Amino acid sequence: MNEKDDSKDLWVFTEIKDHERVDECALEILGKARDIADKLDQKLVSIVLALDAEQYLSTIKDHGVDKIIYFSHQDLKHYHERIFTKLIHKLVEKYTPSIFLFPSTEAGNALAARVAYKCRTGLVSDVLNLELDDEYGNNLLLTDKPAYGGNIHVKITCPSKRPQMCTITRGTFNKRKIRKSTINIVKEKYEFERNELKIKILGAPTRKDKPSSTLSDAEFVIGGGQGLGSKDNFEKLYDLAKYTKGKLGGTRRPILNGWMPEHLQIGISGESIKPKLYISFGISGAIQHITGITDSNIIISINTDPNASIFKTSDYCIVADANEILNELLEYYKIEE
Ligand SMILES: Cc1cc2nc3c(=O)[nH]c(=O)nc-3n(C[C@H](O)[C@H](O)[C@H](O)COP(=O)(O)OP(=O)(O)OC[C@H]3O[C@@H](n4cnc5c(N)ncnc54)[C@H](O)[C@@H]3O)c2cc1C
Repeated sequence: MNEKDDSKDLWVFTEIKDHERVDECALEILGKARDIADKLDQKLVSIVLALDAEQYLSTIKDHGVDKIIYFSHQDLKHYHERIFTKLIHKLVEKYTPSIFLFPSTEAGNALAARVAYKCRTGLVSDVLNLELDDEYGNNLLLTDKPAYGGNIHVKITCPSKRPQMCTITRGTFNKRKIRKSTINIVKEKYEFERNELKIKILGAPTRKDKPSSTLSDAEFVIGGGQGLGSKDNFEKLYDLAKYTKGKLGGTRRPILNGWMPEHLQIGISGESIKPKLYISFGISGAIQHITGITDSNIIISINTDPNASIFKTSDYCIVADANEILNELLEYYKIEE
């Protein structure tokens, strides 16, 4: 869609996960989108595609929407790229939204890319903030996009094409409970020709059970990073966690090194934590990690580099060798035992 002048309203693709719940990230986005819609004096619209979609509407209504447009059909039980893309593209053509936000989930990213292509508009993926901007045009959506592992951030706008689209990383915004006095509900008619399907799903998708992490509810978390230098050093963190009754997590690096299992990753593509105390050992503070720890009450960080970026987010900064401190702590707890 090229004509920006006709466009109106702010849409959020409100994904239904595993045909059982509304995606948390989508609910977080609705909270921020409510503010933007108010500033623009536009309606906030939730877009839902699901089997028995009606069952999710009451949850969505509690998150500040003015309107819900939904399709309900058994073909929508699982995300299907052709069906979802076609239905959503038709909706965009019919209602011409100004902004369209997606959660940065597997389905959200795949769908947003396809819809953007169909609409001949731009798409920014995995953004970390949204603002309205007057510098480059009247009330354009200004997205904050991290690149090169978070070492640079770029501001991106979509000045002439509509809708302005982006996918947003989980944990970027907070969920907010707001119920508007009037909420308009629109059920769209499901229409899809089966012969348009190029692939056939022969069985229901199955989810491989991952070991579950208890990090997100832990009160005390110990985080290990590359700076610990070796698997042997890293394993001492498990002892510290045992003595202190803390939970162990870490950055992506120890996972890539084979020092720690994947489900203990903290950050953008792992767990978000909110403990009373988080202590990081040899972690640089890449944005992908920081995103997962910002709700911690107190953060103590140990790093040899006085300019390590994790210190910007920490309450207590210890410029020291993390292994030395770890050894001293273990000595202390062994004596106490
Ligand atoms: C799409 C994408 C998603 C990602 N998702 C995540 C995610 O969810 N979570 C995540 O954590 N990362 C994620 N990453 C990786 C992230 O970008 C960083 O590479 C990673 O967080 C860095 O890990 P680190 O701090 O352990 O290692 P490094 O960046 O290598 O930092 C090591 C730190 O240790 C310090 N150090 C060295 N020796 C010592 C010592 N003896 N004592 C104390 N300090 C020492 C150094 O000064 C340095 O600051 C993602 C990357 C991408 C591209």
